[in-house]
Parts: sequence; structure tokens; C-alpha cells
Amino acid sequence: SLGAWDRVPAEEISDLREARVLDGGSPFALTFDVGGADRLGVLIPNHLIRRALFDVVEGQAGVILMAGRRVASCAVQGAAPRGRVVLDDGTTIRARLIVAADSRFSGVRDQLGVGVEMNRLGRSMMVCRMRHDQAHGHVATEWFDHRQTVALLPVADAQERVSSVVLTLAAPAIADLMRLSPDAFAVEMERRLKGRLTGLELVSERCAYPLATTWSRRFAGEGFALIGDAAVGMHPVTAHGFNLGLRGQDVLAKVLKSARGGDIGSERLLARYERDHRLASWPLYQGTNALVRLFTQETPPARLARGAALRAGQATAPFKRVVKRMLTV
Ligand SMILES: Cc1cc2nc3c(=O)[nH]c(=O)nc-3n(C[C@H](O)[C@H](O)[C@H](O)COP(=O)(O)OP(=O)(O)OC[C@H]3O[C@@H](n4cnc5c(N)ncnc54)[C@H](O)[C@@H]3O)c2cc1C
Repeated sequence: SLGAWDRVPAEEISDLREARVLDGGSPFALTFDVGGADRLGVLIPNHLIRRALFDVVEGQAGVILMAGRRVASCAVQGAAPRGRVVLDDGTTIRARLIVAADSRFSGVRDQLGVGVEMNRLGRSMMVCRMRHDQAHGHVATEWFDHRQTVALLPVADAQERVSSVVLTLAAPAIADLMRLSPDAFAVEMERRLKGRLTGLELVSERCAYPLATTWSRRFAGEGFALIGDAAVGMHPVTAHGFNLGLRGQDVLAKVLKSARGGDIGSERLLARYERDHRLASWPLYQGTNALVRLFTQETPPARLARGAALRAGQATAPFKRVVKRMLTV
């Protein structure tokens, strides 16, 4: 509704036509195909989404963008407007409502005294783009191999020979991979992919993210609200964090609009946002964490259970419909 979509270059949008989930060396794959539709969903690089959103917001009436500045401290206290934000250049801003949107490691959340359940997983996720011999055919693969998880995501490319490679390993192993030369890295990735893709060549920089999931004890209170990862930091494996963040932002905006000129910092008003977004996020957050536990444990019962889970998923039409709806909505 902001028009951001139209600002993403069409040639950078990659269709997703099939998704496959693989378990270790098993030839079985849980597959989601388009059925009668054109596509399951689309893949867009995050930096292009961010650029489109910044472009849309810049110049809007009532918006002041202060790029390059950081929040140094903030508090909600005293008489209205109760919010006080101090930037790193000493500028002080008074506000009726402070919205924290500063990531799962949110400093604003800490300063507002909101507790958080944080699980540092000791693993890191590395993302890069690689060219390869085989055409990807717009198929995404999530492969839960023993002691490593690999996602291969189709990138928009005329020959369909470039993929985003997302590898999850113990943090020190990712640090070692980041230090390899591009050529040595390509050889190592070919070994790790066990023949799924050959002729690998690194065509981007490598980025590594330490994995932590977070659940804030509150999403709102008198004079403040938390949105995006500052409220819920999802495990990236189901690729829902950003989408969930947009949902929360949308709910908050509607709640604020309903104040019709009244106090947008009122705890009673903001409780509606908190209730709605917690209810919607909790099953996704817990479900994703359970999935990660099932697919990363190496005990024989866990291995048996995940093979069975994939086969049950393939045979259960309602389950596949729900997952497909999550991908396409
Ligand atoms: C490897 C990986 C892959 C992912 N893939 C997907 C996917 O496919 N689909 C999906 O939906 N989600 C995905 N996610 C999750 C998604 O990236 C996040 O949910 C999303 O970026 C959260 O947005 P955010 O704006 O809340 O926080 P962030 O994107 O973390 O942005 C926070 C911003 O706050 C700024 N900031 C921090 N501190 C301050 C301060 N003191 N003052 C001012 N500014 C500050 C930061 O500079 C940053 O710009 C993925 C995450 C990872 C790590």
C-alpha cells in the first residue's frame, strides 16, 4: 500500500516455483510445487527491499529521516510528552510514543526496561551468492544434512545459474570459512554440497550472522512499542522474520490510527497491538524453534523422527496447503 513494491527492479525478483526439504543422505524430498498457480512466492534481496522502503518514506510529509545518527539513550517518564530520546550527537527528541525497531539485540528495549528471552544458539549463518553449472529451475532447497544446514535459493539470472547459498554451522566453523580465499572457499563448498552443485564460483561477498532467537516479555507499554525483530527475533530457517515484522508494523499503525487524535502513547490503546501481535507470533515462534530442534539434533531418535515427519508432511494435504499459504500470502 506504500508503493514500495513498484520500486523493486523487476529483473531482481526471482520466482519460486518449487521448494524441497531434504534430510541428510535420504533420497526422499518433501516438495511444495505451484499446483495451478504461477509461482509459490518470490525471492528479493533484502537490501533492495530496504532501499525501496527508504525511497518511499523519504520526502513524505511529516517524516524526518536522520540517517547516520544513533539512539544513545531513551526513557519514558514525567509529564506528556513522556518519551525522551537522546541521539549520539546530543540532539534530544520528545515524543508521545517511542517505537523500538532496532533489531533483536535492541538497545532501546533494554533502556526501556523490557526483559527478553534470548537463546544464543552458538551457530552462525553464512550467506553468499555462487554461480554453478546446473540451472536452478527456480527451485529452492532446504537441506538438513548431518551437522550442517544448507539452503539453496534461486537468484534472478538469465541462465538460472546463480543461487544464494545459506550455510549454517557452529560459529567457529563459519569463521574459518569466511577466512578462506574465494577459490578455496568454492572448493570447500563443492565438497560440502556433495555433488548437488558443481563448478561453483563465489560471485558476492560473504556475510555471517550469529544465530540468536529472541522473544520480548512485552511488546508495548505506556509511551512505547516494540516492532520487528525488537519484538520477536525468529530463527531465519523458515524465512518469516521480516514478514512477521511487517505484520506487526501494520497492526500497530492501524491501532494508532484508531486513536483519532487521542493519546497514541496510551497503555490501554497499545495493549491492543500487544495482544494481537503476541497471539499471531507465538505459534510461529514456538513452531519454528521446535522445527530447528528436530532438524539439528543428531541423536538416532531425532533422525528417525525427522524422516517420519517429512514423509507425514508429504502425505498430509492440509499441512502442505498451510505451508503453501505461508509462502504465498
Ligand atoms: C541470514 C538471514 C536470512 C533471513 N532471511 C529471511 C527471509 O528470507 N524472509 C524473512 O521474512 N526474514 C528473513 N530474515 C529475518 C529478517 O532479516 C529480519 O526479521 C528483519 O531484518 C528484521 O527487521 P528489523 O527492521 O526489525 O531489524 P533489522 O533489519 O535488524 O534492522 C534494525 C536497524 O536498526 C538500526 N539500529 C540498531 N541500533 C540502533 C540505534 N541505537 N540507533 C539507531 N538505529 C539503530 C540498525 O542499524 C538496523 O538498520 C533473515 C535473517 C537472517 C539473519
